[in-house]
Amino acid sequence: MGTKYKEFHRQSIDNPEAFWGEQAKLIHWNKPFTKVLDYSNPPFTKWFVGGETNLCYNAVDRHLSERGNQKALIYVSTEKEEEKIYTFDELHAEVNRFAGVLKSLGVEKGDRVLIYMPMIPEAIFAMLATVRIGAIHSVVFGGFASHSLATRIDDAQPKIMVTADAGMRGGKAVPYKHLVDDAIRLSGHPPKHVLIVNRGLDKEMSITAGRDLDYAQLRAKHMNASVPVVWLESNDPSYILYTSGTTGKPKGVQRDTGGYAVSLTASMKHIYCGNPGEAYFSTSDIGWVVGHSYIVYGPLLQGMATVVYEGLPIRPDAGIWWKIVQDHKVSVMFSAPTAIRVLKKQDPAYLKKYDLSSLRHLFLAGEPLDETTAQWIEEELGVPIYDHFWQTETGWAVLTAAPGVEKTPTKFGSPSFPAYGYNLKLLHEATGEEVPANEKGVVAVVPPLPPGCLSTVWGQDDRFVQTYFTSFKGKLIYSTFDWGIRDEDGYYFILGRTDDVINVAGHRLGTREIEEAISSHASIAEVAVVGVADQLKGQMPMAFAVVKDASKIATAETRKALEKEVMGVVDKELGAIARPARVHFINQLPKTRSGKVLRRSIQAIAEGRDPGDLTTLDDPVGLEMVKKAVEEARRA
Ligand code: AMP
Repeated sequence: MGTKYKEFHRQSIDNPEAFWGEQAKLIHWNKPFTKVLDYSNPPFTKWFVGGETNLCYNAVDRHLSERGNQKALIYVSTEKEEEKIYTFDELHAEVNRFAGVLKSLGVEKGDRVLIYMPMIPEAIFAMLATVRIGAIHSVVFGGFASHSLATRIDDAQPKIMVTADAGMRGGKAVPYKHLVDDAIRLSGHPPKHVLIVNRGLDKEMSITAGRDLDYAQLRAKHMNASVPVVWLESNDPSYILYTSGTTGKPKGVQRDTGGYAVSLTASMKHIYCGNPGEAYFSTSDIGWVVGHSYIVYGPLLQGMATVVYEGLPIRPDAGIWWKIVQDHKVSVMFSAPTAIRVLKKQDPAYLKKYDLSSLRHLFLAGEPLDETTAQWIEEELGVPIYDHFWQTETGWAVLTAAPGVEKTPTKFGSPSFPAYGYNLKLLHEATGEEVPANEKGVVAVVPPLPPGCLSTVWGQDDRFVQTYFTSFKGKLIYSTFDWGIRDEDGYYFILGRTDDVINVAGHRLGTREIEEAISSHASIAEVAVVGVADQLKGQMPMAFAVVKDASKIATAETRKALEKEVMGVVDKELGAIARPARVHFINQLPKTRSGKVLRRSIQAIAEGRDPGDLTTLDDPVGLEMVKKAVEEARRA
């Protein structure tokens, strides 16, 4: 850690009130806060108590006088072959129209609006319009299928859902509204209305009269809408974002308003070094936390233009991202290691084809960044690459370099140091004591968590405490559920999850959810899903299933057919993103004597490693079967 950054970090921990009080000046407050930090009810943390602000005001209205005619949103679709630019003035007008429509449908402060949308400008208008009027958005990733969507509808109980007829992927239409219909049928809490942005992509879209409404028609009635901002107390919720954990039921990560606005604006200055008037390109999707923080709010709060890209990284060719960087003079880019590994397989000439002189930094997060990939992209791009570690829960980086404070050297494979605001520790899993340098420990944060982190789990305060703050006996400490190690220079390295959560192409999936989906197939008696190392995607789910009736898998053909069916169930319930790479059928799962499935050992065998301590194993037959299935698949 450089001396300047060390001091910056120290101040944030030793004197959080002074530190964050200073950062809070980066945003507009309609009413000043009376207290920077209230930690009287640990681990619940309140930032900027009594202060009134609004995310939409800070992201849009605040910039109008100085940069109303500058670019705010750059929409590039290689799917629809369309490009549209919105200035801050135009973005303001569209957000007001959307807010006018939401209000006309009865949406009020505190109501939930569930957004299930492809990467189109209306998705961002919907998010900004929701927070403008003090309502709470819950964006669900478009790749999640109807069952996942229904679970989220039931938990968030939205008054309104916003969707499109369809998205597009690889030039083909992918239905959205159709999945919304299925999800509402499965849900116990149907929304009052479904607002549809009809892109003319799904001619067979069905409409439920009274419930379903066409956005274009309603927008036309609100062309001149001027919807006043609803000022929120800093700790009022701004959004809910669901994330997978070790149970089958995703958790609704709840974010506040003021703390989030301050943390993101500060991060644009200290971490990303993005300046007003420049362009920021995050290749994520609005359905993920990176999309919330660094497609929508972060860049706009900073007065930057944000690129909203609908398309694949290699279509029409592997130069498309670099063309966007050139055409829109992108200065900061944010992506995920998997995407870079995909590009690495393509012709490197694409990286030389475009003028990338505007680009200053590339940040990568979401999954481990291997050294070879980091080195390759840094050499090809000729700009610094920053790996940084964070989670849906934290909303912004936990481990990162902060080049805006001090340009510290990076080490490939390391997301550098604890971000300012995080009192980060590496703790021994059993004793909860700090581990010395070069020893593996659990990455943990001593609360209070800094601004921007989750304030609770939506509607479940007890689950918030129970899930995140009970890993270390007798100590109220936040666990990231990641293993980490720190070298003698103070650089951290992330070594993977401590729980059954897996990471596929930078996206977190709970193996339990996939197991539940597979178990819903009539032929399956029992199943274990583990994450197996994959060269491109980091990890892939792999399933080991026991069938109820062995005749279903009597021949290679029936086995193959059942595997396909099981994969189909996962596609339908959760989405193709969760589809296992393979479903192996075995007669018995390896379990401990107390009946717990030995997932770690299964995973080790599937990756060709030593299964470890097997003293608690009930019967070795199950493990032998896993081994045999994996070996047979390898030979095939
Ligand atoms: P999500 O909440 O979906 O963003 O997933 C967060 C998880 O992704 C973390 O708990 C880590 O397991 C993993 N992760 C995120 N960023 C990194 C990184 N830079 N290096 C290694 N793992 C990461």
